[in-house]
Amino acid sequence: NKFVYSFHEGSKEMKSLLGGKGANLAEMTNIGLPVPPGFTITTKACINFYDEGKTLWPSLIDEIKLHLAEVEKTLNKRFSDEENPLLVSVRSGAVFSMPGMMDTILNLGLNDKAVKGLAKSTGNERFAYDSYRRFIQMFSDVAMEIPKVRFESLLEEMKEKKGVHNDTDLDSEDLKVLVEMYKKVYFEEKHEEFPQDPMKQLELAIKAVFESWNNPRAMIYRKLNDIPHDLGTAVNVQSMVFGNMGDKSGTGVAFTRNPADGENKLFGEFLINAQGEDVVAGIRTPNEISELKDIMPEVYSQFVDATKKLEHHYKDMQDIEFTIENERLFLLQTRAGKRTAHAAINVAVDLVDENLISKEEAIMRIEPNQLDQLLHPMFEPKALADAQIIAKGLPASPGAASGKIYFHADDVVAAKARGEKSILVRQETSPEDIEGMVAAEGILTARGGMTSHAAVVARGMGKCCVAGCSEIRVDEASKVIKVKNEIIKEGEFISLDGSAGTVYRGEIIKIQPELSGNFEKFMTWVDEFRRLKVRTNADTPKDAAQAVVFGAEGIGLCRTEHMFFDEKRIPAVRRMIVSTTLEERKKALDELLPMQRKDFYEIYEAMGERPVTVRLLDPPLHEFLPHGDEDIKSLAESMNIAFEDLKDRIEDLAEFNPMLGHRGCRLAVTYPEIYRMQTRAIIEAALDIKKSGMESILPEIMIPLIGDVVELKYVKKEIEEEIQLVFEERNDKVNYLIGTMIEVPRAAITADEIATEAEFFSFGTNDLTQMGYGFSRDDAGKFLSDYESKGIFEKSPFEVLDQKGIGKLMEIAVDLGKKTRANIKLGICGEHGGEPSSVEFCHRLGLDYVSCSPYRVPIARLAAAQAVI
Ligand code: PEP
Ligand code: MG
Repeated sequence: NKFVYSFHEGSKEMKSLLGGKGANLAEMTNIGLPVPPGFTITTKACINFYDEGKTLWPSLIDEIKLHLAEVEKTLNKRFSDEENPLLVSVRSGAVFSMPGMMDTILNLGLNDKAVKGLAKSTGNERFAYDSYRRFIQMFSDVAMEIPKVRFESLLEEMKEKKGVHNDTDLDSEDLKVLVEMYKKVYFEEKHEEFPQDPMKQLELAIKAVFESWNNPRAMIYRKLNDIPHDLGTAVNVQSMVFGNMGDKSGTGVAFTRNPADGENKLFGEFLINAQGEDVVAGIRTPNEISELKDIMPEVYSQFVDATKKLEHHYKDMQDIEFTIENERLFLLQTRAGKRTAHAAINVAVDLVDENLISKEEAIMRIEPNQLDQLLHPMFEPKALADAQIIAKGLPASPGAASGKIYFHADDVVAAKARGEKSILVRQETSPEDIEGMVAAEGILTARGGMTSHAAVVARGMGKCCVAGCSEIRVDEASKVIKVKNEIIKEGEFISLDGSAGTVYRGEIIKIQPELSGNFEKFMTWVDEFRRLKVRTNADTPKDAAQAVVFGAEGIGLCRTEHMFFDEKRIPAVRRMIVSTTLEERKKALDELLPMQRKDFYEIYEAMGERPVTVRLLDPPLHEFLPHGDEDIKSLAESMNIAFEDLKDRIEDLAEFNPMLGHRGCRLAVTYPEIYRMQTRAIIEAALDIKKSGMESILPEIMIPLIGDVVELKYVKKEIEEEIQLVFEERNDKVNYLIGTMIEVPRAAITADEIATEAEFFSFGTNDLTQMGYGFSRDDAGKFLSDYESKGIFEKSPFEVLDQKGIGKLMEIAVDLGKKTRANIKLGICGEHGGEPSSVEFCHRLGLDYVSCSPYRVPIARLAAAQAVI
């Protein structure tokens, strides 16, 4: 039962026992780098601490003492020594780095005796008492929760009394007085003397680290980041070295490569005569690391060698902390350096080229969602850091956008015509806002979730969107946003970070990311490994072409309703819907046919030989209809019918639950001629493109919202009749497939029957989640955030596929579908098709492809490769 490990007893493989920091200190020690000696108290000890009712048990204390003695012997220093005292740092170190936990106490071991020893051994009394003063404050604040201000105000008073500005202007006599005052504060707060016994100091510090594992901040952080609560934290106790002992001492931080762009060149900074916090605190301006070469050439070359050794050893870019004490170099920490996506790709590819890692390792190093950063224009980092945050919403569609705010689609369109950049701000968007969404730089809504209209459409367009931003109040009538105590008026600038969901005041400058050669190279490796194909959800030739650039291998979902919102088409669409006779409806459909045929032709063209799945019309019809009296009047006039009649007809079409209403195949049951028109357009366009030389064209016609095979049978018979008609008229043929979405739970569990009619399935996990959970897609955003904040759901199931429940429905459908039709083609086209953990699930399910919005295609490709490795 060993709970304490000297650094020379551990290794980097022991991370779960020693924590990240402890494991790396051990590893550095063992590969012969200069690490100040010390030891790690394990995460298991932390768990035990809680089992023991939050006490340090006697045998643990004995073990700690034993290791302390070893450190004392190695350094020939002793706790409380009046000649040459041992001082240590105490740091927490969990398996995953965790802000919110206790961080660091320096100079532990200082007391009334040791301070004299420190003065002697360094020949600097002022330094010794300053260290003592700082230690009392740090220990009291970090370990004993005594407010820092109690000490800081005394320091300020002292400076005022002395008539000086800087701490450094106080002499050792002043500092001695301060030490006594600080001890008094400790007594007032804790009703006991400041502990003089270093062992007692150490025990209290260790207890504080263990207890910080369960402080509220740490618990929330774990919840948010999916870190189990029973891991515990380790404690690292390490002998102090001093970077603040004069001009031959210093401290710094360096990355082995540039964390912004990955350039293979040492990157970092240092301060002469300083301790670690001084670099972080940013009070003095640090020097660039290369300048160390001129100041201490020996130490510099030693450091450079150490960084190379570490990078080779860890086979990754490292972030290293070091201290120089009287021209002696010490390494205090190493870890994998945090980096931008751009740097991550460059480093991974370079490391493969340098034969340090394999392609597989390189692929696993990149977090798929990180690729987002590379695909969208981004804010210039410094400008972003200076910008004022006004609210946070859902990161609905990544990207960075700045513009003047407008509250109506028309105003956005008009602004664009004037050459202005604008942001469309709406309570929530509806299909009527499409034109405005197209014209806007970005979209901000106060309501709606990750699959709300705004989110889905914006992602499809690759347009930045922050949705469900409930902190703001959108007053569309007065054309203002109210947030906290501020008002932002129409025409004022805001900026949106769609990857973080953050809303800023004002305009922030942007830079265009480059898709570097290394990115291309990396993605070809990704494609060598993955089995899943990646298609895209695209409704326009432009989106389709963009997706091809990003590597899409086909269209998995072309939502044809999106083609109906066009300004020029909407009158015909409206006439089609409100007409009461078949004859009238056919007339309207005849107008739409050539437009649809052209749409499909251009999409086939953009996709080349790649497969294209076209889904027949899905949304609730009333979405297309005018709402204001003015609009109704003008439609009535154009149709030559009475205003009142039209108004009645529109009211008839309204539904209480449109998402569960008259949509998808249900429309085709009522009005088969709509699907017939669309099918005709799909097939005629295919015949046209075949004639132009694309022999392999194979349109895939997809029928939405099937719940029962009888619905499918009916619709399929209608459209097959239409196809035969076209073939006869044209005296030509093409191959085609007819399949269905699996998005109604009943379809999933009767998939064996459905498969008798369907040649392919595409999982519509948006609706499957809606109907499987019974969460309305339109409304659930309002309360799902409570589920998330209360930890009931980690993530909204509309965002990350619920593998247990909704995934189970998919699994059942896959099994049943294959029973009937062994080679049935299987895909997914819900929003989950671009979410990495859901992609991995689809790989395991054995689907043939995932389909996602163009900008998520590279992410899905990488996730699919990682699923194999
Ligand atoms: C779905 O339901 O998952 C789907 C792709 O269709 P839509 O989002 O258009 O309803
Ligand atoms: Mg659907």
